[in-house]
Amino acid sequence: MEDCLFCKIIAGEIPGNKVYEDDMVYAFYDIDPKAPEHILIIPKKHIKSILEVGEGDFCYIEAMIKAAQKLAAEKGFAQDGFRLVFNTGANGGQTVHHLHLHLLGGREFGWPPG
Ligand code: 5GP
Repeated sequence: MEDCLFCKIIAGEIPGNKVYEDDMVYAFYDIDPKAPEHILIIPKKHIKSILEVGEGDFCYIEAMIKAAQKLAAEKGFAQDGFRLVFNTGANGGQTVHHLHLHLLGGREFGWPPG
């Protein structure tokens, strides 16, 4: 999608500070981190939000979760615990309309979220 920020990061048109990439997903550091480790894991297919994940798209969710497992282990916070978040829509706080999984680690998180 032409005007999508995250599609441009995948394409290398905007620097993205990549931490992982495979056939299905791309992962990079959030520009405005909310934790000591804050990585965004995105599908290479342009999917607007979790609401737009179609029957044929669940392979991307699987790949995103596998990338999160791998990155949490590699970055050393898997055992202490971490948070995975899909912000969805206006009330969910979604600001970029390309599906992304927030992987947050390196500190303790409160509940409920703000
Ligand atoms: P959302 O609020 O949609 O759940 O998350 C979007 C995330 O993208 C935010 O945490 C924001 O900091 C991050 N973000 C926005 N623009 C950029 C950018 O140009 N580069 C990177 N690396 N992250 C971005």
